[in-house]
Amino acid sequence: MILYKLQCCDEHSFDGWFRDGKTFDRQAKAGQIECPYCGKTEISKAPMAPNIAKSASHDIESANSVAGDRVTETRAHQVAQQILEAATKAREYVEKNYEDVGDKFADEARAMHYGEREEGGIYGHASEKEEKELEEEGIDFVRVPGSNRKNS
Ligand SMILES: [Zn+2]
Repeated sequence: MILYKLQCCDEHSFDGWFRDGKTFDRQAKAGQIECPYCGKTEISKAPMAPNIAKSASHDIESANSVAGDRVTETRAHQVAQQILEAATKAREYVEKNYEDVGDKFADEARAMHYGEREEGGIYGHASEKEEKELEEEGIDFVRVPGSNRKNS
């Protein structure tokens, strides 16, 4: 048996075992050797020394780009985590310092806006319809992401 370093016409390199050099020539000519990466059958023996250097640097490049993807992924995860933490902090701040008016949020916000009640921080729930009405009346409010509705 003989081990050849092979490459396809797209420069994918791989190893192939053959009974002898002639067997390789015959199989290659007959299109019986397939590139394991792309399935092409235009296979040749990889030139020895220069190709080893080239394929080595190619491997390093792809290793780097894989690492790069991982960094991007980790970074995206960190940013998502930070946003989540900020949202949680904002919610905690609101829940600690503002008055919970529950489902009456729209009424209370409106009352405050028209001076019918004391100004102060309130929080609660508003339906989409209520939110829209408040916006139309020019009443400022902030949506707190991930606000957990109390099931009482
Ligand atoms: Zn290939």
